[in-house]
Amino acid sequence: MSWTPGDTGFTPRGAPGPRTLIRRLREIMAAETAPQARLDALVKSIATNIVADVCSIYVRRTDDVLELFATEGLNPEAVHATRMTMSEGLVGWVARHRQMINLSDAKAHEAFSYRAETGEDPYNSFLGIPIIRSGQVLGVLVIQSVAQKGFSEDEVDGAQTVATVLAEIVSGGELLEEQDAQDVEALLHKPEHAVGTPIVPGVAMGKVVLREPEAKAHPTFAKDVAAERLRLADAIASVQKSVDDMIAADRSLFGASKEVLEVFRLFAYDKGWVRRLEEKVLAGLSAETAVEQVQEENRKRMQRVSDPYLRERLHDLDDLSRRLMRTLGGEAGDGIAVPAGAILLADSLGPVELLEYSASALGGLVLGDVSATSHAAIVARALELPMVSGVREIIEKAATGDEIALDGATGEVHLRPPGTVITAFEDKAQLRSRALARYDALKDEPAVTKDGVAVDLQMNAGLLLDMAHLEETGAKSVGLFRTELQFLLGRSLPSKADQEAFYAQVLDAAEGRPVYFRTADIGSDKRANYMRGPREANPAMGWRGLRMSLDRPGLMRTQIRALIAAAGTRPLHIMLPLVTTVEEVRLAKAEIQKEMDRHEKHVGPLPEDIQIGVMIEIPSAAWDARAMAAEADFLSIGGNDLAQFFFAADRETDEVSSRYDPLSPTFLSFLERIIREGQQGGAKVGYCGEQAADPLMTLSLLALGIDRLSVAASAIGPLKEMIRSVSFHELRDALAGMITKGGTSLREDLIIYARQAGIVLPMG
Ligand code: PEP
Ligand code: MG
Repeated sequence: MSWTPGDTGFTPRGAPGPRTLIRRLREIMAAETAPQARLDALVKSIATNIVADVCSIYVRRTDDVLELFATEGLNPEAVHATRMTMSEGLVGWVARHRQMINLSDAKAHEAFSYRAETGEDPYNSFLGIPIIRSGQVLGVLVIQSVAQKGFSEDEVDGAQTVATVLAEIVSGGELLEEQDAQDVEALLHKPEHAVGTPIVPGVAMGKVVLREPEAKAHPTFAKDVAAERLRLADAIASVQKSVDDMIAADRSLFGASKEVLEVFRLFAYDKGWVRRLEEKVLAGLSAETAVEQVQEENRKRMQRVSDPYLRERLHDLDDLSRRLMRTLGGEAGDGIAVPAGAILLADSLGPVELLEYSASALGGLVLGDVSATSHAAIVARALELPMVSGVREIIEKAATGDEIALDGATGEVHLRPPGTVITAFEDKAQLRSRALARYDALKDEPAVTKDGVAVDLQMNAGLLLDMAHLEETGAKSVGLFRTELQFLLGRSLPSKADQEAFYAQVLDAAEGRPVYFRTADIGSDKRANYMRGPREANPAMGWRGLRMSLDRPGLMRTQIRALIAAAGTRPLHIMLPLVTTVEEVRLAKAEIQKEMDRHEKHVGPLPEDIQIGVMIEIPSAAWDARAMAAEADFLSIGGNDLAQFFFAADRETDEVSSRYDPLSPTFLSFLERIIREGQQGGAKVGYCGEQAADPLMTLSLLALGIDRLSVAASAIGPLKEMIRSVSFHELRDALAGMITKGGTSLREDLIIYARQAGIVLPMG
């Protein structure tokens, strides 16, 4: 794949073009004139440069009225007289939709509204661009022409550059009279509130750090172009050096991504990228504004690329720009230093990047669009960083340094919270830290009911980072280690050596506690970027898990070889995902046996005990639990998949995933049969689906006689406290009664029962 950022380069267009215009804007801003005179000069210059008949600037007032502040071409009397609401006219349309509009016949648009005082009758073409800063629409830039032709792509690009510059100038207050500037300030600092998707529980309050470094703190234009050019060159050199150092140190998740970093280095040294930055500085912009604009241009161009590999490279370019911004701001180029307890806000975030932040003690995460199963979420969970996703509107409105409060259990996010909200969050945080202290005191106690029935509480993991939680939570083993994360987080298939090194580190970190390694559940929806192959219509039911492993035995054999080698003589637990038939288990065991024979013959003694478990995730396997148990050493119910197939409700589709409650009597009686049949087949039966973190699900599974429960580290303390308050025999009889009653969910009945029985239910 040969592609460099230079290929998407910024091509200087025919004169006069944005470069001349930026120079002119800079001169206007440098002149000692009153705000209105500056505005008038600005609109005149823009109209001349874009060769349009009209250029106007509308500014948004705090009462959401858009007021004409300056115009070249419309009736001058209309300035400060023409005012319209956000739902009025084309200007209102642009502000409301936060979207550009480019029309050849403005009057034909349904939103058009005629304003006689402006004298706009002769103008047909209309270009409206929102002036946006920190996610707030501050106004609208309008360009109009008599000719009925609309505006060309170059003209639109030029006008957009101007709108970005205007946004900075307007928010900086330099263009407006004092009162108007204060109004803009107020707009930018309103309290905001949203409820997003809860991803990692926990309460956090702190100052906002935007992943996208903010433009506010820097000037738009360079004071001295030659000096600015030098400053840019120094910053680029320093970023390049930091990338070199990073490669030398190989700071990565699995110590296996040198190749990835090499690609990153190619970008850092790319001549096209450096040239485009220099061009902007030579045109008069400050180095920071140049970085922002080049980054924006890259983003726009890359969004049009359909190849996922190339699109991924956009993250590299974004990352480089951020490093450059930090360097220009006086920070070290590589580390991501943030104030302790800061809350990071980002539209999206890569796992490696999050790890770089975590070293500097982040307090929480607010992301725009990241699912609970994304890599960033997995890392955040491992770091126990409270996290909420799906609140893009908050991110757009936030500025670095703003106060923010989030509750990762409920999804609530408050930006610039008022005093009452701060007090409520302080109370929540206090309650939570008291609960955490209680869980800590219980960590060496067993998970045993009041009448002496013990459950093995295990931990789910997938990263080395997770392993520290074994000690913290007192979990006795890892009941599900999702090995596919190493395959999915890296950018190429991990070699046998990479896998072996990783598993050995995991086992070392477990210090003798068993780790149930689930063989890679990849394919279909869990695809890495480097994996090719046709998209399937129903990926969840597709070519994944054990199905793929059996068709590609090389992949599975490599992993088994790595696991056996990593274990040495220590016990080894292997768990097979997405099993459909007993025959598949036999085939998988035969592959494992081949590797055991090979190891004994060529390497040395085998692990002292190799246990093979089967995950019960498909109804056909569930129905055959007794036969599965006869083939396996243990069973583990993967309730995430099992519930989606039981209810025929895709776990990734919000509209259906929460439609059916796993606490329904039908699903619970299905589970009861699996547990009973599995145990009668001679195997211990565990549950490792995420639902087990729901205390009511744990109560149900406990009543159904489950042997093991494997849950996220954060759920272990609360569940143990609850289990220790339960009387098993009473609970078992109560649940049996509820199941026979029927209905769609036993949630309410279970809550009522738990309250009556004095069971300690963890707080939400
Ligand atoms: C499950 O399906 O419940 C499970 C544990 O596997 P995963 O969530 O990784 O598919
Ligand atoms: Mg599964």
